[in-house]
Amino acid sequence: MEYEAIIGLEIHVELQTRSKIFCGCSTAFGAEPNTNCCPGCLGLPGTLPVLNRRAVEYAVLAALALNCQVQEKSVFARKNYFYPDLPKAYQISQDEQPLAWGGYLEIDFPEGSRRVNLERVHLEEEAGKLIHAGDSIISAAYSLVDYNRAGVPLLEIVTAPELYSGREARLFLQELRTLLRYIGVSDVKMEEGSLRCDANISLRPVGTKELGTRAEVKNLNSFRAVEQALNYEAERQAMILARGGEIIQSTCHWDDSRKATVVMRLKEGTADYRYFPEPDLPPLILERSSIEALKERLPELPRQRRRRLQEQYDLTAEEAAVMTDSCEMADFFEKAAASYPDYRNLVNWVLGDLIYQLREAGKEVAQLSPALLIELLELFDAGEINRPVAKELLAEMIRSGASPRQMVRQRGLGKISGREELAPLVEQVIAENPDAVENYRKGKKKALAFLVGKVMALTRGRADPQELNRLFEEKI
Ligand code: ZN
Ligand code: MN
Repeated sequence: MEYEAIIGLEIHVELQTRSKIFCGCSTAFGAEPNTNCCPGCLGLPGTLPVLNRRAVEYAVLAALALNCQVQEKSVFARKNYFYPDLPKAYQISQDEQPLAWGGYLEIDFPEGSRRVNLERVHLEEEAGKLIHAGDSIISAAYSLVDYNRAGVPLLEIVTAPELYSGREARLFLQELRTLLRYIGVSDVKMEEGSLRCDANISLRPVGTKELGTRAEVKNLNSFRAVEQALNYEAERQAMILARGGEIIQSTCHWDDSRKATVVMRLKEGTADYRYFPEPDLPPLILERSSIEALKERLPELPRQRRRRLQEQYDLTAEEAAVMTDSCEMADFFEKAAASYPDYRNLVNWVLGDLIYQLREAGKEVAQLSPALLIELLELFDAGEINRPVAKELLAEMIRSGASPRQMVRQRGLGKISGREELAPLVEQVIAENPDAVENYRKGKKKALAFLVGKVMALTRGRADPQELNRLFEEKI
């Protein structure tokens, strides 16, 4: 029998507000442990939560970009469970009345575009971070806890079970990351944990509708891990079913070093979180008009922009994808294109040398002015500098922000095409290379290239080769 995998994702995204969701503590990543904490986010009795307006705005922006129905009334709820990273022993989350229902994200899968539906989007608070240390054999194992993260605003996004392979799950997550970065609500870094993903996966015979018993895969902290873990798990379940075995509902985690999913616990019935409305917070009421106002603030979203750029500037799908990977890169390109009509040439420079040099210099494209790149291209197009010099200037321009035109002037990097400048060099090379001159006279065309190369070396590549050809022909 043939099986297909059915995957649903549960995604947590840290919103990049400056302060936490229910207190004024800083959300800065990488601070000394337990320095960005107050009685509120430490869960001390007698403190009260105050909702962060910006966190709500970011959550609504994300929900709108995801085509969700944002609710005018949503309710915070206590999700009760006991764990050392949760000082209050409950998480303030949303249960029956979340911020938004439904929604979808349109994904361009290699086999074609498809809408992946969402079930819900809600707001909640982060837990602290546990750091497991010690060695259980030599000394006692122990865990440390850092509450700096406790109370950072989180957006939870739950997809419908509508993804069918590890690769589809990865592509969905990558598109989601690009979208959230575009609208500026999160830095969405999987490696820093500001984008996290758990997945539910089950198998069913192809052609049937009912979902099989699922496994929940946790600890997927890179896009690669998402793809590998889900493919591994699909394979594992298929093997069990092929042997006539039964899938036992379980929670497992992905062991990246062993490239295997490891069962953490078998499901003993659903956990009872004893949700109840958070008594310390009133329901969250959003005016329809303020939801509409936020909608107005949404920029052109990545998929639309990708398609438009492809049309407008005649880019391939791959080129458009790289160009729109970040809003800043797309902005840079479009600003440059506005004053430089040769799109093809511009695209080649941006996707080739520019991206490479930015990475080399560890710089962001937002730090670079499009006008400087245009200045450089115009110098090159006008024949004032040659390609090696242009590349050198591009690197320098990215490092220091210096004007290419000024650098050419100050350093005398311009192309040398004046006869009065080149003639003495040509004569010098003729005098120093009698054999090559003799060979050229005998009709060896290659000898001319050799002589031209000598002058190029003397001028460090700045001489105009066409002018040199003419001069050598005249003089020999
Ligand atoms: Zn606090
Ligand atoms: Mn959650």
